[in-house]
Amino acid sequence: MKYGRIENYINGEFVPVQSERTITITSPINGVLLAELPCSTKADLDNAVAAAKIAFTSWSKTPIKERVQVFYRYKSLLEKHIQELAGLGSEENGKTHSESIAEIEKCIELTEFACSLPQIVTGEILEVSKGVECRTEKVPLGVVASIVPFNFPTMVPNWTIPNAIALGNCIIIKPSEKVPLSLGRIAKLLQEAGLPKGVFNIVQGDAEIVNAICDHPGIEAVSFVGSTKVAQHVYRRATGNLKRCLALGGAKNHLLVLPDAIPGMTAQNITASMSGCAGQRCMAASAMVGVGAVDHIIEKICAEAQNVVPGENLGAVINKEAKERIERYITEAEEQGARILVDGRNVVVAGSENGSYVGPTVIDYVTPDMAVAKEEIFGPVISIIRTKTLDEALAIENASPYGNAASVFTQNGGAARYVMEHASAGMIGVNIGVPVPREPFSFGGWNESKFGVGDITGKSSIEFWTKLKKSTIKWNPESGLNWMS
Ligand code: NAD
Repeated sequence: MKYGRIENYINGEFVPVQSERTITITSPINGVLLAELPCSTKADLDNAVAAAKIAFTSWSKTPIKERVQVFYRYKSLLEKHIQELAGLGSEENGKTHSESIAEIEKCIELTEFACSLPQIVTGEILEVSKGVECRTEKVPLGVVASIVPFNFPTMVPNWTIPNAIALGNCIIIKPSEKVPLSLGRIAKLLQEAGLPKGVFNIVQGDAEIVNAICDHPGIEAVSFVGSTKVAQHVYRRATGNLKRCLALGGAKNHLLVLPDAIPGMTAQNITASMSGCAGQRCMAASAMVGVGAVDHIIEKICAEAQNVVPGENLGAVINKEAKERIERYITEAEEQGARILVDGRNVVVAGSENGSYVGPTVIDYVTPDMAVAKEEIFGPVISIIRTKTLDEALAIENASPYGNAASVFTQNGGAARYVMEHASAGMIGVNIGVPVPREPFSFGGWNESKFGVGDITGKSSIEFWTKLKKSTIKWNPESGLNWMS
């Protein structure tokens, strides 16, 4: 076993987990055993919260300009170790090396934003009455927690780590039990960057420790990223315990394609969106709604898909269960009358016969009632639904319970504007396959893709990780008697 038994990271040290319940970690690339993950207990969490609470006393009092110095150094360390981090991420998650490199590059951008926080979080002050001023400042919450999914072992944790910590909080993070390795490396880099002990902590495990986090009286706020069912559960449980919670859920993103879209660029964007990270992105193109005569674009998508080769520029899906689930969706659509134009089932990669690979899959003539049209597949599959009008296409998009992203491909500005106005999604793309807003803009969906107020990154995250202190101050006796006496 390459990495042995994984530990928690509490108070600046790796410490054994106090449990015998373990999960086996294998690489999706070749099925090789990587590590054994023991599941943390409530006692482990108590230790992490206690350490974070002590650290908070001095960290929250450290001026923000000093706090972000850690993240300037952390950014340099991410740059220095990018190849190694990408290697580890690919090994445990299955994505290609270049996708893992892009993931770390995004972590660097997220960290740059955190470094800019002192310029953004200045409070306000105003003389509201003669000699009386009101002032506001954003102060940290205390001990906060972050629960993350498997699909971005480093990036999603870095949606929260730099901002929450730079804003003065101390954090406990729970990695996905499927990809727990990368975050251990991040802990070491934060330590090397000079983060005081106890400010950043890791507890390992699955649902049991997530529930303990939601219930823990010492934790002020919980951010969650994962599937909708679990997001709903975490949101209910954490807010039921009177915590602040922001829970991002799953997605079913629609790409509306009009006949006037530029064929090559559209096909390239859609194929990259549906197959990048093996389709395991909450921003992946999942359903294409072709409005009118778009056969020429579909042909190009099929041609593009032929260039997406499992084991080369297409990574593995997370495990065998995921491969089976994705292939079941394809088979069911076929049985219901959809046409499989490009078939990614039963792929075997030479030399990685034990890997969990699914090839790019293009399914045409999907009807809105089919499961592949409605449900999150989380694999390299695009389901094509055909409509006659843009309003019909929008009605299909609007009917989805999710609302992470929606894109339109067209050269008609009016049509693009119409989709921007009428799509029911938090992130809209115009001629963009993966419309992820870049810093300082924030990331977050609508509907059942997000529960809670605000977004998880960018400027919007500041409100989540801080509370507003309002002070009314009168120093001057000459202000005398006025209505603020
Ligand atoms: P998941 O919901 O299975 O797991 C996410 C986290 O929840 C993990 O840390 C896991 O340990 C924990 N968890 C799982 N089951 C639980 C339960 N019953 N009770 C309490 N905690 C539980 O998600 P995943 O499979 O790791 O990730 C894929 C999902 O995440 C997809 O649905 C994807 O769309 C979504 N996702 C969403 C976004 C977004 O920004 N909206 C980003 C990335 C991933």
